[in-house]
Amino acid sequence: MKVLLKNLSRAIQQICYPSICIYCHKLCNSKRHIFCEECFDLINILEKEERCSCCFSASYEPYCLSCTHQTNIKQAYVSEQRGPLYALLEKILKGQHYRIPAVAALMAYQYIRLDFSLPDYIIPNLCKHKRLSILLAKEISKILQVPHRRFFLKKVRNSHVLLIGFQQDQSYDKSMQVVKKENPEILIGFTLIGSL
Ligand SMILES: [Zn+2]
Ligand SMILES: [Zn+2]
Repeated sequence: MKVLLKNLSRAIQQICYPSICIYCHKLCNSKRHIFCEECFDLINILEKEERCSCCFSASYEPYCLSCTHQTNIKQAYVSEQRGPLYALLEKILKGQHYRIPAVAALMAYQYIRLDFSLPDYIIPNLCKHKRLSILLAKEISKILQVPHRRFFLKKVRNSHVLLIGFQQDQSYDKSMQVVKKENPEILIGFTLIGSL
């Protein structure tokens, strides 16, 4: 009887609050999960090995042919432009803003994993999806315990700045240029998804 009741309540829960994997649309094990187990295993968080230390493109050498040497501007990201994390980004951009903290946690995890030192300021990409980028920067700044700045670009001069965006697109490149002009000491451009 107990088992039956448990099964019944589980079935009712699934009807009332189904948690569907956002990538394959099958039911998840837990209501709190975004992906089912199989899709979670598909997430490929990139390693710094075999990546250019400057632009993060695939490279067997420490620096790729276009970078060739160390600069004070670096870029990195969590995943390539396909797979479950790209599906997650699409959901956020289509209105599931409550999923931003999950992306922030993942980005903070990758940032620490890549062994970057903590920045003085986090700046959101303000050229596109402004409100969402600010939310993302806020969440990451909470995790890394680093202040985020929206509009006080002048203060980034001679500082270590982390520019946050969802993906390496034209708007992100534009933001990189804007921040670069302010002469930060170190600038790291960091996104969830890499370039096309
Ligand atoms: Zn799935
Ligand atoms: Zn490179």
